[in-house]
Amino acid sequence: MESVFANAKKQLDTVAEILEPDYPDKKKFKKVLKILKKPQRLIKRSLHIKLDNGKSKKFIAYRSQHNNARGPFKGGIRFHPNVSEDEVKALSIWMSVKCAVVGIPYGGAKGGIIVNPAKLSERELRELCFEYGKVFSPYIGSWKDIPAPDVNTGGQEIAWMLESYEKKIGNLSPATFTGKPLELGGSEGRTEATGLGGSYILDYFQRTKKRKNRETKIAIQGFGNVGYWFFKFSFEKGFKIVAISDSSGGIYDEKGLDVNKVLKIKAEYSSFKEASDKIKFKFITNDRLFGLPVDVLVPAALENAITKDNAEDIKAKTVLEMANGPTSFEGEQILLKKGIDILPDVLCNAGGVTVSYFEWVQNLDGYYWTKEEVNKRLRNIMDKAFLEIFEVKKKKNISFRLAAYSLAVKRIIDAMILRGRV
Ligand code: NAD
Repeated sequence: MESVFANAKKQLDTVAEILEPDYPDKKKFKKVLKILKKPQRLIKRSLHIKLDNGKSKKFIAYRSQHNNARGPFKGGIRFHPNVSEDEVKALSIWMSVKCAVVGIPYGGAKGGIIVNPAKLSERELRELCFEYGKVFSPYIGSWKDIPAPDVNTGGQEIAWMLESYEKKIGNLSPATFTGKPLELGGSEGRTEATGLGGSYILDYFQRTKKRKNRETKIAIQGFGNVGYWFFKFSFEKGFKIVAISDSSGGIYDEKGLDVNKVLKIKAEYSSFKEASDKIKFKFITNDRLFGLPVDVLVPAALENAITKDNAEDIKAKTVLEMANGPTSFEGEQILLKKGIDILPDVLCNAGGVTVSYFEWVQNLDGYYWTKEEVNKRLRNIMDKAFLEIFEVKKKKNISFRLAAYSLAVKRIIDAMILRGRV
């Protein structure tokens, strides 16, 4: 398996070739690039909780703070058995790039705990979140580092972390976390923001292709927060979603799936595989889903979904990345050679961090917006980012990812130089 951190560094090297001519001081440019290839700080701690059986258990937890030249660190916290130092470092680089792509005033960070949360009771999970909020309290804060949910975490986990963080610092500080439940100062529209933002990008891209929505076939890998909302908004806009999966496999109908029917199946059964043993529908493995003859393939699960091992099989005309880092560096080279457009993660899934930014602004202001206001502002930001990237792509004849990176990395480098960090 290709390392995601190596992937992130290769992406920076590739964009450096495009940016270098803009910087006459080559020594300074090399220095800044070297800094960007590592997080400013990586914090690793052991969290100890008491299990329901009375025994105590240790969990390894991370926070990677990549760069804060453009604003406080910002990024989610992931609970997954595969969390690693390598992974949080890569994800924190992508967060810096993503915030710069959409022009919001944050740097990048990412956190995680090596855990399978499905194996913990609710009390154990709460204890683990309390520990994270407490142990990492010196490193986070509303103008320092602002965590949010990610894979296997949501409003409840953030609420527990907020509680223990505030207890530790002796103050209320809702702007330290985003993705909070509405009752605790969360923002309208945050839950669905990532999927909605991605569907805005799809809309804009469609217009450039002059293709009709109902004639556009889509396959989605992942039926979590991101996959579900992307499915729902695309369905409502008339796109034909022919397949969607979870980690067990998926459901396929070449005539198009109905979002409400699929949601009902997922609510009744723990997985598509389990459902397929009990009710009738066309089950599809994740491997086959990637090879479907669709217009748009949407990886919305985890990183490294498309690698050199399966990129040749992909028949889609466009890959719209909703997960973080779903395409490995080698996988991407194969797709580009085949003429497949890749709409990059740092653009497509930036709706989540954008509405997190709105949440933070509302918390600092103590004044709350309606969902309509949130979604309108989100649309403006996503459309502007797409258009800027599209212009650069056309002008320089480069991929969408390189166009996005060249805009974003330049913004970060310029902030570093202005601050005199190099
Ligand atoms: P989630 O935990 O809600 O859902 C993940 C989904 O992926 C689940 O349906 C799971 O079954 C599926 N999955 C896991 N492994 C799989 C596999 N091997 N094959 C097929 N499906 C698999 O997570 P999420 O919040 O939806 O996040 C998904 C991705 O989007 C992650 O890469 C995350 O970093 C990224 N992302 C999330 C947000 C957000 O706001 N939640 C924002 C930006 C980016």
